[in-house]
Amino acid sequence: MLRCDAAVDMLLDARDGTLSLQGRQALERHLSQCPSCTAFQRSYERSIALTAQTLAVKLPPQAKARIQALLHQRLDREIA
Ligand SMILES: [Zn+2]
Repeated sequence: MLRCDAAVDMLLDARDGTLSLQGRQALERHLSQCPSCTAFQRSYERSIALTAQTLAVKLPPQAKARIQALLHQRLDREIA
């Protein structure tokens, strides 16, 4: 079985979208058998969501719109 420190690294890569299919499968297997990493994953996802909410509240509407427009442009470029 994958070690927990490797699983945590893979979690971060999975979040960034840089984890291979094989890596994701190994991570899923580890998470299905490791309560500690599952708990870490849950708290990690929650932290990201909370951070996003905090940023959403603090960003002025114009800045938020500009960031959204930039992200859409970038996504459109990656999809095309
Ligand atoms: Zn683990």
